[in-house]
Amino acid sequence: MFQEITRKGIVGDRMKNLILIAAPGAGKGTLSKDLLEKYDYVHISTGDLLREQVAKGGELGKKIHEMQVSGGLVTSDIVYAALENKLNDPACDNGYILDGFPRNVEQALEYDKILSKSGKELGLVIVLDIPKEMLIERITGRFMCKDCGAIYNVYNKEMAPKNEGICDKCGGELYQRKDDNLESFENRYQTYLDSTTPLIDFYKEKGALHVVDGSKGHLYTLEQVEKLINN
Ligand code: AMP
Repeated sequence: MFQEITRKGIVGDRMKNLILIAAPGAGKGTLSKDLLEKYDYVHISTGDLLREQVAKGGELGKKIHEMQVSGGLVTSDIVYAALENKLNDPACDNGYILDGFPRNVEQALEYDKILSKSGKELGLVIVLDIPKEMLIERITGRFMCKDCGAIYNVYNKEMAPKNEGICDKCGGELYQRKDDNLESFENRYQTYLDSTTPLIDFYKEKGALHVVDGSKGHLYTLEQVEKLINN
C-alpha cells in the first residue's frame, strides 16, 4: 500500500493494483476472495464480466457463450469494452484485482494504453505456479454457490461442503460451471500455456512479475501475496 501525497496533503490510501495470472483452477478466485475479505479491492474478473453479458442474453451474449464453452478466448474487442466500462467505476480508484486479463501480449499492450488513458498504475503482476495434475482435481471437483459465490472442492477435505450440493455459508444451491470439465480444461490449459508464456516474459522484462507457489494451500498463497502488497 502507498499513500498519495498532494499539495493538500494525504488524500487517501490507494493499494497496488494486482494482475493475477494463473492456469484455470490454480486458485485465482479463492485468492481474490481472501484478499477482498481483508482489503478494499475491487475484483475484476473478465470471465465474470463476460458471463454477465451471457446472462443478459441477446446475440452478443449467445456469441460469448459459444466462445466460452468451447474453451477458446472471447474476441479481444468484446473483452476491452467490458473492462474499460468496469474500470470507469470510481471504486476502482482505490485499487483493483484483475483476474483473467490480460491473457496474452496483445491484451497486455492494449492494457498499457488503457492504463495511460485512465492514469492508473500497473502495480504487481502475480503468477500462481501450480502443477497440472493438481489443476485437474481442482477444476473437475470445483463447485460454487449460486447465491453467495462461495467456492468448494469435493476432492479436498478442507474445501468440501459439509452437505453435498449445499453451501455451508448460506444454504444456497451449489453448481458446477459448464466449462469445468476435463475436455474444456485441456483446451483452456493449452490456450493458457500458449498465450501466457510470452505474457510472463513480457511482465518479467518490465520488472513487475512475482511468482508465488500456489500448491501449498490458500493460506500460504495469501500470506505470500500480502507480503508483496505491503512491501
Ligand atoms: P475465466 O473465468 O477467467 O476462466 O474465463 C472463462 C472464459 O471466459 C475463458 O475460457 C474465455 O473464453 C473467456 N475470457 C475470460 N477472460 C478473457 C480474456 N481476457 N480474453 C478473452 N477471453 C476471456
